[in-house]
Parts: sequence; structure tokens; C-alpha cells
Amino acid sequence: DDGFKVTPWDVEGLVDYNRLIEEFGTSPLTDELLEKTAQLTKSELPLYFRRRFFFSHRDYDKVLADYENGKGFFLYTGRGPSGPMHIGHIIPFFATKWLQERFGVNLYIQITDDEKFLFKERLTFEDTKRWAYDNILDIIAVGFDPDRTFIFQDSEFTKIYEMAIPIAKKINYSMAKAVFGFTDQSKIGMIFYPAIQAAPTFFERKRCLIPSAIDQDPYWRLQRDFAESLGYYKTAALHSKFVPGLMGLEGKMSASKPETAIYLTDDPEEAGKKLWKYALTGGRATAKEQREKGGNPEKCVVFKWFEIFFEPDDKKLMERYHACKNGELLCGQCKRDLIKRVQDFLREHQRRRKEAEKKVEKFKYTGEL
Ligand code: SF4
Repeated sequence: DDGFKVTPWDVEGLVDYNRLIEEFGTSPLTDELLEKTAQLTKSELPLYFRRRFFFSHRDYDKVLADYENGKGFFLYTGRGPSGPMHIGHIIPFFATKWLQERFGVNLYIQITDDEKFLFKERLTFEDTKRWAYDNILDIIAVGFDPDRTFIFQDSEFTKIYEMAIPIAKKINYSMAKAVFGFTDQSKIGMIFYPAIQAAPTFFERKRCLIPSAIDQDPYWRLQRDFAESLGYYKTAALHSKFVPGLMGLEGKMSASKPETAIYLTDDPEEAGKKLWKYALTGGRATAKEQREKGGNPEKCVVFKWFEIFFEPDDKKLMERYHACKNGELLCGQCKRDLIKRVQDFLREHQRRRKEAEKKVEKFKYTGEL
């Protein structure tokens, strides 16, 4: 027992990410690979990579080699539309946008309304289709290039079924069960679903790169077992850490605990109140004690959120760290700084989300490039 648990459907405890690299059999995202990324894209790395929010990979070295020798690659990611998206859901999409922009590659985004309907007892098919539309607006608001970004919803993009059939013949029940944890009570639609999820990795005859949180890795491990036997590449992946919820560094921000999450559609005022009330700090019991002994940014969700997304400037992040450590900065001020950043982000996102309503059709993938 490591004191933490990571499966595609559950993340608990304080995750030891180095242990996870060992247990999942992935590779660390090294300085060398990151330097090569910067060099090939002629860009400065964004904070997600500089600060190792993305920390692990499979075959990313091969992706870079393919890019370098002109073969190219493509990106694939997705979203299960079971409810509103929160900050933790959207951050990996910003990292994906950076990759797409700098490498100039195609990106496919699968919206798994079928999956969420099949796997979530409480949701009707109408619900997941409605959430699909809602979530697509949030994704478009990230600012993807409409000429290279193809969004499709499984229930609408029925061509995917045809692609899933050869895959379905390569996965046996025990392979799928090992990854998804199926039981005798699992619905038969759930058991077919892994074939649908793997299909987009074959959309182009190039290597596919999937940026996602590391808990999704087992799905792609399954794809890597049979891809070559169908004449395709094993998919590559870049793995991110989890964005913690407001109330603690353990686990991840979860839609099932609404008070621990900031939703992209939250009213900025309400979001500010939620942060003020619930965000865990690494502060001392009294202001006096904090001035004397300093705070503990390592144990602080407020600091973590600055680190992961809300303070892109490394120098300012370090200044905040030291000001906290030596007692110059108190948690009230620090929280107010974060609230301001989160509110500005939400206002801008919500403005772009409104504009996205007019762009949905432009992004829809029909199977033709
Ligand atoms: Fe966290 Fe800021 Fe308080 Fe330090 S001052 S413990 S970084 S909230």
C-alpha cells in the first residue's frame, strides 16, 4: 500500500508521481526531451512543461524524431461529457493548444457522450448529449485553430463504428477487464467501448500523441498492445499530474465534490467566495506566528494553483514562495491575489465561450480533412 491509488476512474491520496512512473512503466519527461521540444518549435516552453506539470511520457522521443525527419504526427485528446467542466479539466487543453500551435499539427478531440451515458447510471443519453454541446463550448474557448482542430461527438460521428470493428476483434474480454475493471454486471455497451476509444489513434497514418492526465494511461496501454498488428503506430502519450481541488493536495479536483472545484461557468463573484472559504493554505494559526515562522507553500493549494496555471512568470512565483517562507506574505493577501487571477481568467473564458457558440460548426469533424 503506497497510501495513494490511481486508476482511470479514481484518484486518492497524495500521489507519488515518481512511483507512478515506475508502476505504470512510463518514462520521465527529461530535460533533454524538453530542450529538444523548445529547439524544434523555436519556442520558450510554457509553464506546463517548464514546471513539470507534464512529467511522464510514452514514445514522446519518437514523436519528436518523426517531426524532425518530416513524417509528422497528430494529436488526440478527449472529454467525457458528464457535467460542467472545471479548472482541472481545462488546463491540459491549454497545454495541448500550445503543442498544436507550435508543431502545426492536426488535433482530434473526441467527446464521449456514448461512454458517459453507458458508464454513469444516473445520466440519460439526452443529458450526455446536452453536456457534450456545453463542454465543446469550453473547449473551443481555449482558442484552438479551427483549420486544424476536429471535434467530434461519438453519437454523431457514426463513421467511428466502422473503424472500431477491426479493433474490437483485437481486444479480448480479459484485456479490457484488466483495464476497465468490468464485472458480470457491466453493461455490454461498456465492454465494446474500449474499441471506440482507441479508434481515433488510427485517424492518420502517423504517430498519434495523446496529452492527458496520467490516470488515463491504462487505456492507451491497451491500444499499444494491438496497434502494430493492425498496421498502425503504438500511440505516444504525454502525462500530466492532477490539479488538486480547493480543499487539499490529495486526490484531484472532482466534479462529485462541487465545493472543491471552480467551474468554468461559475459566476466570478461566487467563485471568489468559494476560494476564500474553502481553499486550503499552508498558513500558521495566527498572523503573528506566520510573520515569525513563515508559511508552508509546499502544503498549500493556493500556491499549487499559482504554480500549475495562475502565475506564468517564474520569477514572480519564486518571489511569492520566498515571501511566504519568510513571513512577509500572509495568506489573506495571497488568497486575494489568487482570487483576482481566477476571476480574470473566468471572465475572459466566459467571453470566449459566448463567442464559441457561433463557431461550433467550424470545428465539427466529418471524417474528411
Ligand atoms: Fe499559501 Fe500564500 Fe499562505 Fe504561503 S502565504 S501558505 S503560499 S496562501
